[in-house]
Amino acid sequence: MVGLAHLRQVRLLVLGLGFFAAFVAITARLWTIQVDQHARYLSCARQQDAITVPLEEVPRGLILDRHFTPLAGNFTEYRVVVIPGLLQDRYAAARNIGRILRVPASDVTRYLDTPGLLPFPITKKQASEIIRASWAGITAAPVALRYDNRPLAVHVVGHLGRIDSSAELARLRASTDKPYHAGDLVGKAGIEKYYEARLKGSAPRRMALAYTDATGKLLAGQKVTLAKTPDKNRQNVVLTLDAGIQRAAEEIMDRHKIKGAIVVQEVNSGDILAMASRPAYHPRQMEEYLEASDGAFTNRAITLYFPGSLFKIVVAAAALEEGIVAENELFFCSGHQDRLVHCWLPEGHGVITFARAFAESCNPVFARIAIRLGADCLVTYARRLGLENQAVTGLPRPPDPRQSLDAIKEPYNLVNAAIGHWPVFSTPVQLCSLVATVARGGIYRQPRLVKCFTEEGTIVEEVPPAPPRRVLSPRTARKLQHLMALVTAKGQGREAQVPGWGTAGKTGTAETAQGERLAWFAGYAPTEHPRLAISVLVEGGASGSRSAAPVFRELTERILGSQ
Ligand SMILES: [Zn+2]
Repeated sequence: MVGLAHLRQVRLLVLGLGFFAAFVAITARLWTIQVDQHARYLSCARQQDAITVPLEEVPRGLILDRHFTPLAGNFTEYRVVVIPGLLQDRYAAARNIGRILRVPASDVTRYLDTPGLLPFPITKKQASEIIRASWAGITAAPVALRYDNRPLAVHVVGHLGRIDSSAELARLRASTDKPYHAGDLVGKAGIEKYYEARLKGSAPRRMALAYTDATGKLLAGQKVTLAKTPDKNRQNVVLTLDAGIQRAAEEIMDRHKIKGAIVVQEVNSGDILAMASRPAYHPRQMEEYLEASDGAFTNRAITLYFPGSLFKIVVAAAALEEGIVAENELFFCSGHQDRLVHCWLPEGHGVITFARAFAESCNPVFARIAIRLGADCLVTYARRLGLENQAVTGLPRPPDPRQSLDAIKEPYNLVNAAIGHWPVFSTPVQLCSLVATVARGGIYRQPRLVKCFTEEGTIVEEVPPAPPRRVLSPRTARKLQHLMALVTAKGQGREAQVPGWGTAGKTGTAETAQGERLAWFAGYAPTEHPRLAISVLVEGGASGSRSAAPVFRELTERILGSQ
């Protein structure tokens, strides 16, 4: 019996010790939670229990130009922030805000029902007046908007739109582990769309907030607070574009009411400095443009057109490289009487050298040279010069299948092709690369539009340029440079001459299937150590020499003059 009682006492002691140990552990943990880490847990609890108003239109990385100037994502506007639950007197609040904003109180009242931003932009002065007044439930703060009032390069940057189907939501969720919800704003076109997964952020980086208790009731007497939250994992896209050159190209197109495209490339690198397309749209007023039928959403710089006489650069390159023509060789042009193809000059150029035929853009001469070359040879050179490569480094876009140089080999197509008509198509970007290849001394570079991706100011990934490729001998390139300089010195492109710098290029005029004129000029400048290659397309223009060459001159003068 004694043994049994003793055993019971031992058991009780062990149990007691166990309870004591557990008590000590729990107390220590409670001490840690309640005293030691008080501040940390309080701030967590508060952040979970707060009414928040995002101060960023959409949580997303920036789209920047080559000098890190934002093209999307960093435009601020001051706005009034209201958290209605904290207002003491709704009508007094509306009167106070209305007085500073100079709007009727009734215009303000209707926005005082839900936490958020008043839809009117306000000045910095008005913002500081509101902040100084320190009214309960009201403050003012800068809000980061996605697009500027005067957006640049909209066709490159693209635009956002709401996720509008469960299929789209599923596709986005499968493409990245970032959070997507029905109705979120996502990239619908351009860089915004191509780099959605990189640009997408998880939460706004800045917000206005008011704390609530565990039951969701706002804590009385508090002011609206501004808070920053880290949002890692959102990347910025750095383009090769130069915002200043892009703006110059767009301003010139707008001033002359030009429909078409302008592409500017840096000769050395092949980087695209400007890619302008008109008509354009405003990414902040999408509803107004969605119904438009003028093709405002089309990026004309990467759209296929008949290149007209710009294609004569390819014919000349092939003929010179193959040694089947000399610059001073004589030809005969009988204008509209020509058996092969009409010349644009009705009475004809008569006896004309190959060099002058290039400068004057004489059709019959180039038809004869193309026949001498043969379709196979012409196609080989066109391909080598990048006229079947629609790829732009950094712009993952499927090529338009209508571009097929092999069609030149079909019967009766060669003569038409020699003067840049059916079945030859090119984009303004390709034609810009073509003249850049000549300016570079016969070296082709695939154009590049994206330089790198950054995160918090650090480059996380470079987009390397495609390797350069020699496609013409330096000797042929020099001859072509000479021919193209003749065009602006004495030929059809005199309007593209820029005194003091020197330019070289080629005019072109074609007609669409709908009978609309396409006026072209593509060239480079300066003639010594070329820096810029530019292609200009004016839809509905009179001719390359009259409509496109002057635009080339104006833009070239402006860029070179400002450097
Ligand atoms: Zn002629």
